[in-house]
Amino acid sequence: MRRYFIGGNWKCNNTIAQTQSLINSVINKLAFDATKVEVAVAPIFLHVPWVQANIQKNVQVAVQNTSLTKMGAYTGEISVEQVKDLGIPWVILGHSERRQYYGETNEIVGKKTRLALDHQLKVMACVGEKLADRESGQTTQVIQAQLDSIKKELTTEQWANVVVAYEPVWAIGTGKTASPEQAQDVHAFIRGWLKSQIGAQAEQQTRIIYGGSVTEKNALDLIKQKDLDGFLVGGAALKSAFTDIVAAASSSR
Ligand code: PEP
Repeated sequence: MRRYFIGGNWKCNNTIAQTQSLINSVINKLAFDATKVEVAVAPIFLHVPWVQANIQKNVQVAVQNTSLTKMGAYTGEISVEQVKDLGIPWVILGHSERRQYYGETNEIVGKKTRLALDHQLKVMACVGEKLADRESGQTTQVIQAQLDSIKKELTTEQWANVVVAYEPVWAIGTGKTASPEQAQDVHAFIRGWLKSQIGAQAEQQTRIIYGGSVTEKNALDLIKQKDLDGFLVGGAALKSAFTDIVAAASSSR
């Protein structure tokens, strides 16, 4: 059975005082069975050392991006070696906000994923269609192209350290959630792709998580879907709703 995975993407939110308060009042009070549910939260880079030093041991730390380039003369970047050096296990790559606002193409996301995995980081790799893609019946083609670009870069073994996050762009931060059926349909497509393109082991073992306006109200219905192995949570990860989302996953295992 795949262990559920719940990621909290804090995006570019919070002062240090707000991050401290979130850790102390929500994250460090989470109670869950870590053999059944894996939880990771992603603060901004500047807050990572404080979070690492103060977070409960069952919750892992992630970063929200890594550079396409290694250490060197790349002003303003943070490289995979530096993330690894701090002992951070996870990175979110290919988030739709990175694709939309910072020009990250499928090719860049594939290369960043490879670089991160080559440096022993684990990757939450985000894919998802825009509203226009869905309305024109292109959802699976868009997602397939995103996955194909990652596949092009990785070895079969490296998929063991990838969690695929299905995040329909129209559902991110909009309050519109995919229905459990819509989510399951795409998750089943991704699982089928894993089987045909990577192999039976990747099909069975890769976690496919859903992101897009997940709240304490819809988490339970979503998590019941057969191919849904957890969530990537944005807005609701900044408040006590995150506790209920982790509890919803815990209660269904
Ligand atoms: C996200 O940023 O990955 C996300 C899913 O955001 P939200 O939950 O706010 O839609």
